[in-house]
Amino acid sequence: MLFEDFGFDNRILKSIGHLGFDEATEIQARAIPEAMAGRDLLASSKTGSGKTLAYILPALHRVYKKKALSRRDPRVVILVPTRELAKQVFGQLRLLLAGSRLTSVLILGGENFNDQHKSLQKDPHFIVATPGRLVDHLKQRHLYLEGLELLILDEADRMLDLGFADAMRAINNAANHRQRQTLFFSATLDNTDVNEMASELLKEPSRVAIGQGY
Ligand code: ADP
Ligand code: MG
Repeated sequence: MLFEDFGFDNRILKSIGHLGFDEATEIQARAIPEAMAGRDLLASSKTGSGKTLAYILPALHRVYKKKALSRRDPRVVILVPTRELAKQVFGQLRLLLAGSRLTSVLILGGENFNDQHKSLQKDPHFIVATPGRLVDHLKQRHLYLEGLELLILDEADRMLDLGFADAMRAINNAANHRQRQTLFFSATLDNTDVNEMASELLKEPSRVAIGQGY
């Protein structure tokens, strides 16, 4: 399947052109239409299969095409387990947002809390964050998630391994708009903790698992 066949907003098609590929990977071909239809999604495929774009592209499409639920709250939060992954995801997002009026911030543990507070005061549209630090800002009321439209969990299995279950729940509870959509990505779905967290966070999700016999 080609990227031009998903029905993406033209601004997305243009920025995908800068990435240098035309054809979607299997997880992208299966996950993107489900996400674009507004459904919750539980997805897995192996490392290196292109999961990042499988959620970033539908997230961008939603933000371009739909009116925000709130004027100040972030529209999309992407949770990732580690600083390294957060930086990679943020890099891809920035590349795709280049030339648009949409703004994004990176919120990581181990970095200056006050600087992060200031960047949150500018009401970014997208936040890429590690869960613990984002919860610290929530507790300080540096941001509100009532108007959040899209919550994305990348490498949810690793987030659980790293002890972020309570932080994930706190973010889920704060992002309580009934129109919120959730995309949940994991390297494996063959894990009780992953399935329990997925059932807490997702509403009647579509399931897309590549190469695991599901
Ligand atoms: P995963 O999260 O599944 O481990 P990534 O999203 O990190 O995979 O993507 C792995 C690599 O594949 C990245 O370098 C990315 O730029 C590249 N990639 C993503 N989508 C495609 C595509 N449709 N065609 C070719 N390369 C792609
Ligand atoms: Mg990944």
